[in-house]
Amino acid sequence: MINTDVVIIGAGPTGIFCAHQLGIIGLKCEIIDNLDKIGGQCIELYPDKPIYDIPAIPECTGEELTNNLIQQIKPFNFNFHLSQRVDEIKSKDGKWIIKTHKGTQMSSPNIVIAGGVGSFEPRKFTVKGCEKFEEKSIFYSIKDKEIFKNKTVAIFGGGDSALDWAIELSKNSKVILVHRRDEFRAAQSSVDKVKELNNQKKLEIFTQYQLLEVRGNASINSIEIKSESGDVKSLNVDYVLGFFGLIMNLGPILDWGLNIDKKKIPVNTKNFETNKKGIFAIGDICEYPGKLKLILSGFHEGALAARGCFKYAKPDEKLRFEFTTTSKSVKERLGIKE
Ligand SMILES: Cc1cc2nc3c(=O)[nH]c(=O)nc-3n(C[C@H](O)[C@H](O)[C@H](O)COP(=O)(O)OP(=O)(O)OC[C@H]3O[C@@H](n4cnc5c(N)ncnc54)[C@H](O)[C@@H]3O)c2cc1C
Repeated sequence: MINTDVVIIGAGPTGIFCAHQLGIIGLKCEIIDNLDKIGGQCIELYPDKPIYDIPAIPECTGEELTNNLIQQIKPFNFNFHLSQRVDEIKSKDGKWIIKTHKGTQMSSPNIVIAGGVGSFEPRKFTVKGCEKFEEKSIFYSIKDKEIFKNKTVAIFGGGDSALDWAIELSKNSKVILVHRRDEFRAAQSSVDKVKELNNQKKLEIFTQYQLLEVRGNASINSIEIKSESGDVKSLNVDYVLGFFGLIMNLGPILDWGLNIDKKKIPVNTKNFETNKKGIFAIGDICEYPGKLKLILSGFHEGALAARGCFKYAKPDEKLRFEFTTTSKSVKERLGIKE
């Protein structure tokens, strides 16, 4: 069981900046996200797109903003728990017990929900039997590409992720790229590259085919794919990768006894607390009169929610308002020597 002052659910821009504000006032936190990377929508949906309305930054991409936010909280050494979805929240002895789908448990007087539009989850194969091979022979994201070395890998999908990985893995693996449509939806340079690799027999492409069956016991040893015209092919493969994009799922958040209004969590605007004591909601997921679904609003909400957490984390202490420019304790927390 991990004990902390605050658990932040969601490592999007507002969750990360809230962590900064907690660090500044001397609170500890743990940050959980279902994605395998930090940054929420900015990193998952528009890493290369320029943003023009972050105060004092005339232009930056989603990825640059994320990297700067990560850099800003580095001095606090907070832990991120990625690829973990928070499924359960329970109250016990005046604290909240938070449980993820991988079994990680945390105890804290405060929870900040910065869950955006819900947890991002990969769209999966619907073919019967695929679940039992998940994380063994079937993957929807890649954490360690080394496991595919010298193996046969069937990659399904026609977007950037599918093609980028097909190109990358074809350097050391036998790659079969399968797409249900005729045309790929990826960057033209990647489409040209896979076609070139196909011509050089360094990669095999099947378009207008879909997965029909997976076969194997502990791990997959072969699959069947079927074309639109009904042609069925059996392929010997070691691994199957599916890149079909993400779905956003508010999912478990709906079951935590919070007031929900049109898939949003109503909060007060004093400290962004919900109807449950010690549970705060910030960013795209919260709702109040005048709410703007913008990153800059999420930053403000995170700053006030962090102050709201203080009284439950340190009930015997009073939080003094301080400027970072002049506060000695803030500089100590940031590791700045004068
Ligand atoms: C294409 C596009 C362009 C945009 N451009 C701009 C712009 O120019 N300026 C601007 O201000 N805003 C812009 N936005 C909006 C901005 O990205 C969002 O307002 C912002 O990302 C919200 O941040 P957040 O931290 O609240 O949520 P998110 O960024 O959505 O992050 C929430 C995180 O919570 C995680 N999560 C949710 N539930 C769980 C759970 N149960 N367990 C674990 N993790 C969970 C999710 O996986 C996700 O990573 C744009 C959005 C899009 C899609």
